[in-house]
Amino acid sequence: MADLQMVQEQIAESWIAVESFRLLVLRTAWLIDKHKDYNKVRKDIAAIKVAMPKVYHDVATKAAHLHGALGVSNEMPFMHMVTSSLVMGIADGPTEVHKVTLAKQILRDYAPENDLFPSYHIPRLRAEAEKRFAKELAEIRDHYAGRRSPAAAEQE
Ligand SMILES: Cc1cc2nc3c(=O)[nH]c(=O)nc-3n(C[C@H](O)[C@H](O)[C@H](O)COP(=O)(O)OP(=O)(O)OC[C@H]3O[C@@H](n4cnc5c(N)ncnc54)[C@H](O)[C@@H]3O)c2cc1C
Repeated sequence: MADLQMVQEQIAESWIAVESFRLLVLRTAWLIDKHKDYNKVRKDIAAIKVAMPKVYHDVATKAAHLHGALGVSNEMPFMHMVTSSLVMGIADGPTEVHKVTLAKQILRDYAPENDLFPSYHIPRLRAEAEKRFAKELAEIRDHYAGRRSPAAAEQE
């Protein structure tokens, strides 16, 4: 089975999901130690509470499936893990509530733009960059205006 690419894909996806989740937990633990104030890490904690049941569910489901009939029997732990993942999405408050907490905390760092377009609208950024680097752009234009293309030089 390890030689089958669709099995390999499930192994790769599971590894990435678990390791990404572990990093999120470690980063949040580091922030808790750093700030010593849970209010400053509410966003990160909510994100973990959203991510955990999904990683648990997805990896356990893949494991059950890859084990075939044995995987869905009570001789393996996977079916219990899948139902446990559903419990984890409710026991400390529903996933939806944690998502709302997360989104509200993220949005606290942003303010609406009073302009018609957002501040990161590309035409505006380009106009600002052209104004800021006007001298350099003029130098580059002058430089290339005075040069022949390699093809034209070869023909002469
Ligand atoms: C195994 C287990 C252990 C528990 N341990 C504890 C404990 O130690 N201490 C404790 O205080 N409580 C505990 N609980 C209770 C748990 O916190 C609640 O069950 C949970 O908060 C959901 O509340 P509820 O059951 O009333 O469902 P509801 O609040 O009615 O939610 C039902 C569903 O409605 C939807 N929903 C709810 N709110 C929103 C929203 N704002 N936006 C969108 N959709 C929403 C979600 O799909 C949700 O799953 C435990 C529960 C379980 C199952």
